[in-house]
Amino acid sequence: MFIAEYGGMKLTMSNRKVYEELCRLIGNDFVLAQEQMKDHTTFRIGGPADVFVIPQKKEDVASVLNYCKSREVPYFIMGNGSNLLVSDKGFRGVIVQIFKNMQECSVCGEIITAQAGILLSNLAAQAKDSSLTGLEFASGIPGTLGGAVTMNAGAYGGEMKNVLRKVNVMDRDGNITEMDAEDLRLGYRTSLIKEKDWIVLSAELKLKKGDRKAIEETMQGLKEKRVSKQPLQYPSAGSTFKRPEGYFAGKLIQDAGLRGKKIGGAQVSEKHCGFVINAGGATAEDVRLLMKYVQDTVWDQFQVRLEPEVKFLGEF
Ligand SMILES: Cc1cc2nc3c(=O)[nH]c(=O)nc-3n(C[C@H](O)[C@H](O)[C@H](O)COP(=O)(O)OP(=O)(O)OC[C@H]3O[C@@H](n4cnc5c(N)ncnc54)[C@H](O)[C@@H]3O)c2cc1C
Repeated sequence: MFIAEYGGMKLTMSNRKVYEELCRLIGNDFVLAQEQMKDHTTFRIGGPADVFVIPQKKEDVASVLNYCKSREVPYFIMGNGSNLLVSDKGFRGVIVQIFKNMQECSVCGEIITAQAGILLSNLAAQAKDSSLTGLEFASGIPGTLGGAVTMNAGAYGGEMKNVLRKVNVMDRDGNITEMDAEDLRLGYRTSLIKEKDWIVLSAELKLKKGDRKAIEETMQGLKEKRVSKQPLQYPSAGSTFKRPEGYFAGKLIQDAGLRGKKIGGAQVSEKHCGFVINAGGATAEDVRLLMKYVQDTVWDQFQVRLEPEVKFLGEF
C-alpha cells in the first residue's frame, strides 16, 4: 500500500486523497491529517483520526458532508469530546469537530442565539453577564452547545430542554431546517437529533431576566458541589453510565464493592463511583474492559443493567 508522510505521520494513498481534496474544499488551515484523538477528548484517550476537520461555517460542514457521502468516506461529528471514548486505533474516516471555529453568540432581550461550537461554560457566563437566569445548571458541563442539545445535557435539576427554543439542524443530505424545541423529543440524554444523526449548527435559548449577583452565586454554589463530589483532577468523560430508573449508577457501583477498582490505567473513581477515570496512561481498551466488569458485577449482584452514557467511537 502506498504510504506518504504528513508532518511525520503516515497516510495511505486514499487518505491522502481525502485530505488533499478536503484542503481544497475548505482550506489547508482547517484540515489535519492523522490527528491524535487523545488531544481532543476529556478522557485524554484515542488514537489517530485519518482526517480531522475544523469547519468555520455551516457551508463548510455541508461541503465536507457532501464530499464524504459522495466518496462513501465514513465521518463523525463531535464537539469538545467530553462524552466520547475513542478507540486506541483511532477513527478510519473524517472527524468533523464543531467547536473552536463556530462560537458566535448574541444576546437580544431574553433570547441567546449561538453557534453550536460554543462551550456551555462560555454561554452560561454570557447569560450571567446579561442578567439572564436559567442556564446556571450548565455552567460546569464541559461540552459544546451542539453536544449538549443532542444529548439533552442536564445537571442539578436543569436540562437543555428547559431553555431551548429553536435549533438549526442539518440532515445527512446537507439540508438545513429550523426546528422548534418541542418537536425534538428531548428526553433523558436523548433527542430526535441523536436518533436521526442530524447536526446541530446553532440554537436559540429562551432565558428569564434575573439578578446578576444571585445568578453568580448559584453558579458558584454548583461549582463547589462539583469540585467536592467529582474527580475533576483526573481525565474522564463524566458519568460513565446512564442513571437506571429507580437507582443511581454510582451508588450501585459503590455497593457492589467496586470503589477504586482498576484495570490497567482505568479506574472506578474513589471520589465518585459513577465516574471511570483515566488514572494515568489508560487505553480505550482498559476503559472498555473496566466498564464491562462493572456492568457484569452490578448485574450479578443487583440484576440492574447499566447502560453506557459515554459514546464509543472507532473499532473496539
Ligand atoms: C467532568 C465532566 C462532567 C460532566 N458533567 C455532565 C453533566 O453534569 N451533565 C451532562 O449531561 N453531561 C455531563 N458531562 C458529559 C458531557 O460534557 C456532555 O454530554 C456534553 O453535552 C457533551 O458535549 P461535547 O461537545 O463534548 O460532545 P462530544 O463528546 O464531542 O459528542 C457527544 C455526542 O454529541 C454529538 N455531537 C456533538 N456535537 C454535535 C453537533 N454539533 N451536532 C450533532 N451532534 C453533535 C456527537 O456526535 C456525540 O454523539 C460531563 C463530562 C465531564 C468530562
